[in-house]
Amino acid sequence: MSKIDPEFASEIKKYGARDFSACFNCGNCTAVCGLTDKSVNYPRMFLRYGMLGLQEEILQSKEIWLCYSCGECSETCPRQAGPGDYMAALRRYAIASYEPTGLTKLIFKSNPAFILFTIFLSVLLGFFLFTLKPDHEVSRWLFTIIPYAVIHNIGLIIFGVTGISVIWGLLTMFLKLSKDTVKKDKSKSNFWKSLKEVMNELATMKRYKTCDKEEDSYWQSKPAAVQPWFVHWSIMWGFIGLLVATVLDFMVKDPATDIWWPSRILGTIAGLFLIYGTTLAVTYHMTRVTKAYDKTRLADWMFLFFLWIAGITGFWLEISVAFQADYLTNHIIFLIHTIISMELVLLFAFSKFAHAVYRPLALFFYFKYNKDKN
Ligand code: SF4
Ligand code: SF4
Repeated sequence: MSKIDPEFASEIKKYGARDFSACFNCGNCTAVCGLTDKSVNYPRMFLRYGMLGLQEEILQSKEIWLCYSCGECSETCPRQAGPGDYMAALRRYAIASYEPTGLTKLIFKSNPAFILFTIFLSVLLGFFLFTLKPDHEVSRWLFTIIPYAVIHNIGLIIFGVTGISVIWGLLTMFLKLSKDTVKKDKSKSNFWKSLKEVMNELATMKRYKTCDKEEDSYWQSKPAAVQPWFVHWSIMWGFIGLLVATVLDFMVKDPATDIWWPSRILGTIAGLFLIYGTTLAVTYHMTRVTKAYDKTRLADWMFLFFLWIAGITGFWLEISVAFQADYLTNHIIFLIHTIISMELVLLFAFSKFAHAVYRPLALFFYFKYNKDKN
């Protein structure tokens, strides 16, 4: 067992947990959670870990990533301890702990620091874009103030640090999960079978669908297309689709003038899913449709906002290119679209976005070591 840290409870509240020390261990939250099972007892067990300050146990656990933040446990908690928010706070804490630069800690704990960092990144990325078009008159003017090499090299360093941080974070998590899981769970499934189950989960959100299925749940009578699992699915696949379309565009050279080019069709469909998903997610957070959306942190708002803007500006550009409308506004929108998209890529290592790589890894460990025991 790791060292007990009495300050841990107050630390985890900085990541968005409510007063979870109000928990009196009744077990309602675990009973009501549609995703917990015999082998992965959460969220109650993790509330105990938090109160005892067992940081290492938390960082070594895959369970915190198995929760999809449906909020059902928070709805039923008789002590308003917010177990759902607490699990989300643990994930933020884990992202900040795995990432090596300390930037994530700063971003999650301090809104002013997050805003300043985002603005700094936008300005820098805007300047960096001009290094890709050094003959443009604005570029030439800019380079008389800040030399080309300085802007270009700082941009490259930032991209490099982001890449290294993601790989470092993943390796750290892998080592921590291996330490805990492998020693506790000797029985294991086949590697490829587990990988297939992870892919299946990402493609279908099968587990997420079973979240929040109580008879009196708000979502029970709602169509699948507006349920949180589908909103999550739309955002995730919308973003991945756009990323693939952009890479294909880049590789096959300037197909953007033809909207019927395969990569453009993929981009259009993916963009529609991204806008659909982010619009619904923003609406749910704004209206606080259920307890799961009660408390939205600035970093989460910004993340959704950036995704939404990237989708909308992408469509604007597609339409204006299709109609060959070459206005100054389009150049400004292109700049905004590119900066936001690059900002999303760079924030990948240092924000909630990182769950996109950590959750699949945790799922892999779950399918490989735990699932068959149920
Ligand atoms: S339902 Fe609330 S009080 Fe009961 S164990 Fe869960 S967090 Fe604690
Ligand atoms: S938020 Fe939902 S998935 Fe997460 S622990 Fe609570 S009930 Fe389970």
